[in-house]
Amino acid sequence: MKIVGTVVAVQANFYRVRLDRVWEGHQFLLCTRRSRLKKIGQKVMVGDRTIVEEPNWQEGQGAIGAIVPRTTCLERPPVANAEQILLLFALEEPTLDPWQLSRFLIQAESTSLTPRLCLNKRDLIDKERQQEWAVRLQKWGYDPIFISVAQEEGLEDLEGVLADRTTVVAGPSGVGKSSLIGKLIPEVKLRVGEVSGKLQRGRHTTRHVELFELPRGGLLADSPGFNKPDLVCDAQELVQYFPEARSRENGCQFRDCLHRDEPNCSIRGDWERYEHYLLFLGETLARVEMLQQRPDEETTVKLKIAGSGKREYEPRLESKKYRRESRRLRHQTLQDLVEEAEEEED
Ligand code: GDP
Ligand code: ZN
Repeated sequence: MKIVGTVVAVQANFYRVRLDRVWEGHQFLLCTRRSRLKKIGQKVMVGDRTIVEEPNWQEGQGAIGAIVPRTTCLERPPVANAEQILLLFALEEPTLDPWQLSRFLIQAESTSLTPRLCLNKRDLIDKERQQEWAVRLQKWGYDPIFISVAQEEGLEDLEGVLADRTTVVAGPSGVGKSSLIGKLIPEVKLRVGEVSGKLQRGRHTTRHVELFELPRGGLLADSPGFNKPDLVCDAQELVQYFPEARSRENGCQFRDCLHRDEPNCSIRGDWERYEHYLLFLGETLARVEMLQQRPDEETTVKLKIAGSGKREYEPRLESKKYRRESRRLRHQTLQDLVEEAEEEED
């Protein structure tokens, strides 16, 4: 019988694999990658479904022999087989900003994963304002879940959406992501005191992802890596990332239309986020132009659009502030595992 499991963390050349069932007392194995996978250049990602070979039950180790074909593959953060992206925002503190929300939504829409919207801190605004947001976001094509992590409200609904699925959590800093994950997976919080500061290094770089198991089944990827909505897409594609425009009845009759000032364009019009569309379109076009001029600077140049006045809203999870805050969340990585194994040997 094949030993099948899911990669829940990657560090250097080691993969922590959670087995589908307990084998010989092991739920997890620390694995390397078989050289034949290396030879064919097969990368192993968090979320990958793998067949483990050569188990060494004594040591809790094994080797990944094969990867099951992926259903989805997210690049940033690198996560395989995730089904949805949970965008978490706060209604207040920080005040929900439609432009920023739009950016995250569009970034999520540009992946093959399903975006889910969740609005936290509902304890800070009254029912009427919640209702206003619900109506407004419905027009955008979304049906947000309103929660309060602090008051433990709405969490059941959210847990229902997360159960038995792999979800990538994203959102700006300060909205309650750490609090939420700590609430959903109490074991994450428990680990806080256990891990020494030295081990924290490298954990919250953008490339680092880890999957956590939800008590009701399903996996949660906590990573700072998703959130750099730099809208890398084709200008022609952008409109598809707005559900309310996507669903505009006749679409647009013109093939190369950017839905800007083309006469008789049916997308151009009276929907609330049309102005978001125009701004993001301008950025996308400017970005393409810039890359054409200086291809080498892609990663270092921050896009500026003269006169737009909205560029502050660019969420950048790699910002120092975010990294500092997310360190509060401490959990086990392969590094711990390797060190624990070493300690046991001593
Ligand atoms: P993160 O940066 O997204 O990980 O956000 P944190 O989890 O660190 O939370 C930021 C702040 O918001 C903390 O002071 C939390 O106590 C607070 N917070 C989280 N959830 C709620 C909530 O439901 N209501 C209120 N009023 N505050 C909350
Ligand atoms: Zn058009």
